[in-house]
Amino acid sequence: MALTTRPPIITILGHVDHGKTSLLDYIRKTNVQGKEQGGITQHIGAYHIEHKGNKITFIDTPGHAAFNKMRQRGAKITDIVILVVAANDGVKPQTIESIRYIKESNVPFLVAINKIDVDGVIIDNVKAQLAEHDVIVQDFGGDIEVVEVSAKTGKGVDKLLETISLMAELQELKGDADLPLEAVVIESSRDPRKGPLVSVIVQKGTLSPRQDIFADEIQGRVKLLSDENGTQLKEVLPGFPTEIVGLKAAPEVGSIVKEQGREYEEVVKEELVEEEAGEWDGFDVDGAFGDTIKVNLIVKADVKGTLEAIEQNIDPDSINLISSGVGPITEQEIELAATSKSFIIAFNIKVSRSIKNFAKVLGVKVKEYGIIYHLIEDLQKQMLKIMEPTIDEVVTGEAEIMQIFEMRGNRIAGVKVKTGEIKKADMLHLKRGDEILSNPVITNMKHGKDDILIIKTKNEGGLIFKNKKQDFEVGDIVVAYKKEDDLD
Ligand code: GDP
Repeated sequence: MALTTRPPIITILGHVDHGKTSLLDYIRKTNVQGKEQGGITQHIGAYHIEHKGNKITFIDTPGHAAFNKMRQRGAKITDIVILVVAANDGVKPQTIESIRYIKESNVPFLVAINKIDVDGVIIDNVKAQLAEHDVIVQDFGGDIEVVEVSAKTGKGVDKLLETISLMAELQELKGDADLPLEAVVIESSRDPRKGPLVSVIVQKGTLSPRQDIFADEIQGRVKLLSDENGTQLKEVLPGFPTEIVGLKAAPEVGSIVKEQGREYEEVVKEELVEEEAGEWDGFDVDGAFGDTIKVNLIVKADVKGTLEAIEQNIDPDSINLISSGVGPITEQEIELAATSKSFIIAFNIKVSRSIKNFAKVLGVKVKEYGIIYHLIEDLQKQMLKIMEPTIDEVVTGEAEIMQIFEMRGNRIAGVKVKTGEIKKADMLHLKRGDEILSNPVITNMKHGKDDILIIKTKNEGGLIFKNKKQDFEVGDIVVAYKKEDDLD
């Protein structure tokens, strides 16, 4: 039995604008591990840090929604809650609501009084207000830890992290990496390129690539595990977050991911040996690439500089570059791809309908990219083997971004649907002119204050995207689409 100390899992609650996001950002920024690795920061719903030798995992979707959803599903994931109260605003309705959640779920917590850098704040007033709600902090004679911080200047943040580590030590949090796997889903969405993306925090056992897993009724096999820095992981131990690619659908937040019966173990081992012998076997299943182990690739890009950047990221051990060039894809290249069983990558160029049809007739897969780092990421992660071509897409709705709002640190795209409809769960492209800029994922859809699931033709609504740094501007078009195979 490998019973070892595991990192505490922290959730931040508190009133809107009291600085939850700022605090999470500050902590992440100042305690990044492996800064030099050049990883791509990605939002997976949680991140971990190391502070003075102590590892701490933060759930970075602040607010009640995630916390409450997990609680409703009976998943107890948080070890310690930080209740954030702004020194210049004091106890507010959502502070009171948070206190109620904390007490109901019986989870240990501490108070972080934030924004102490603001002129004229009287911190004792906040402590007195908290006492009125039965939160008696230590210097008021109670037993609740309180730390005074500023997410702006960083003052007190070290002490906050130290206090968390001390509280965690008292809880003697243990994780057993040898037990059967149990990992709680903290975020779940569908990425048009990678399929369902499922973020989990491992509670028991070890999560590793090629495991056959399931959550609720959904099955899958771990194809890729990555952390919040975009680093690929070989194993994830209790207390740590990761994003899984490989489940066939996106399970609900709060679901538990488990490993399929251990009787599969022998089979999995055999397959593992086979897979390692031929890394790119994934393609052969499609029949698109014959018996080759390497992938044959033709690359077309808009300009020479980008083409060179792409070529530099092609690993000759796994990819044969059959041809490359600048400008649109030609019929000759489609024919070349068909005879050489190559995959075509088109970066930032318009692929005409007739070329798409021709490719389809000859069974050639064409993948369009608009963002260089997505392409490079795919090349580096060898994601090619699970990616889908874009030519069999059928547009089901188009909406134009008419306005941009800011709310609680989120940028919201105010859209009007021009044709068809946009559903929250749809696969999307974000287009500027003819160019696909990205493939955003919607985490929230609003009409006024209401959460909605669909916006129909001529109607308006707000879209909040999963990637908080999503690039969009007024005039961009959000395109919802389906794969032809998915249509009934
Ligand atoms: P959230 O809604 O709780 O996530 O709050 P945010 O982190 O979005 O912060 C709300 C506003 O307060 C933003 O404008 C922040 O820049 C500001 N803010 C957050 N922390 C501090 C702080 O410690 N001091 C000051 N002066 N402003 C802060």
